[in-house]
Amino acid sequence: MNNLLTIALSKGRIFKETLPLLAQAGIEPVDDPETSRKLILDTSQAGIKLVIIRAADVPTYVEYGAADMGVAGKDVLMEHGGNGLYEPVDLGIAKCRLMVAGPENPRSDGRRLRIATKFVRSTRRYYANRREQVEIIKLYGSMELAPLVGLSDRIVDLVDTGNTLKANGLVPLEHIADISSRLVVNKAAMKMKHDRVTQLITQLRDACGSQ
Ligand code: AMP
Repeated sequence: MNNLLTIALSKGRIFKETLPLLAQAGIEPVDDPETSRKLILDTSQAGIKLVIIRAADVPTYVEYGAADMGVAGKDVLMEHGGNGLYEPVDLGIAKCRLMVAGPENPRSDGRRLRIATKFVRSTRRYYANRREQVEIIKLYGSMELAPLVGLSDRIVDLVDTGNTLKANGLVPLEHIADISSRLVVNKAAMKMKHDRVTQLITQLRDACGSQ
């Protein structure tokens, strides 16, 4: 049986904030992913490897069992849909809010609102629940630009300090969801590697409880 545990992480904020939690569970990467070009990192534990991928790909790797576990933002999980995944621990890291934002004085000519976002699924669900008909425009980044150049009336984006909105003359308008990073686990790995997976879940739960 494959005795290796593979954990999927993305670079940047999630990696930085997950590292101390992993360290408390006795897992430290041998290379620094911010400087190394390796995509698979060995750790201080022979049986545990880290794979470094794009944040939006973490649920896919875990769903298909290419990684046994991973850390992903709730925003990414809401977009993915959560198929094939357990979500046993809210790690309480990389916290922010998914919000509707726009210019302070929006136009009100009764036309259907245009919303630019990369969070298409969450945005569609939010407006459907409110029974509001909107047009959603999919973007891959720099959403704040869209209202400034007339591409959209509003945006749906992650907001932390609010500085990015402010710098672009936008204000937060509606709160959609509180976001934090979650530990996700492949459902088959939970059965096949039960002892190792549950031990690590417990260690990470303890680690984030003690932060
Ligand atoms: P802020 O200016 O602090 O409100 O941060 C907003 C910018 O940072 C936006 O471009 C967001 O997409 C991004 N951002 C904020 N918090 C997070 C997070 N927890 N995860 C990923 N991106 C984030």
